[in-house]
Amino acid sequence: MKKIGLIGGMSWESSQVYYSIINEKVREILGGFHSAKCVLESVDFAEIEKLQHQDNWESLNKSMVEAAKNLENAKADIIILCTNTMHLCSPEITKNSNVPFLHIASATGKVIKQEGIKKVLLLGTKFTMEKEFFKDILKEDYGVDVIIPKDEDREIVHTVIYEELVHGKLEASSKENYIRIINNSIANGAQGVILGCTEIPLLIKSKDVDIPVFDTTRIHAESAVEFALQ
Ligand code: GLU
Repeated sequence: MKKIGLIGGMSWESSQVYYSIINEKVREILGGFHSAKCVLESVDFAEIEKLQHQDNWESLNKSMVEAAKNLENAKADIIILCTNTMHLCSPEITKNSNVPFLHIASATGKVIKQEGIKKVLLLGTKFTMEKEFFKDILKEDYGVDVIIPKDEDREIVHTVIYEELVHGKLEASSKENYIRIINNSIANGAQGVILGCTEIPLLIKSKDVDIPVFDTTRIHAESAVEFALQ
């Protein structure tokens, strides 16, 4: 079994879900006493969140490269970054590390393509919804068109992530808002929704909405296990 290196803490609310899914999947596949070989490099999210909102991607790149290097030194065979947003730093990570890097958008695009879905709604932080790093991979590598909510709904989605979900708060009114935004997107042609922030699956489940849900946390964690057991 290969060793999975996780860059986590962004937030730890979702990193702990990664750890559970990875171990559950290994147990499901190998049975018995098996569990995942993994190593976690967990950052202080206060530092990260501050730099994100200052748009200081140079410092964020440095932190992520340092985290990847630490995992490399800990003999990780693959690196996963347990957040969608921070994949803005993935070009620097891959440039500066010798360990294979499993991109969250590639893992997600593969699953969406397998389902035959051509147009999806993307929910995440404003960085993920508005910048191109996630959408481009979906379009260019998997032929999937991505739509995002209108301005005021993006603001709601973003604020709920930073003010509630990363603090472990699940509010009924926020859930209602997310469901409204997802169901509204169907009229704009969305055939599925990407939960493109690793905390959103804490709030929204498949049964809550009328279209297929692509949970990036689960997809990413399970792809890492697939790699580790190859
Ligand atoms: N975990 C979140 C994501 O998947 C947001 C927190 C962060 O900014 O890293 O984008």
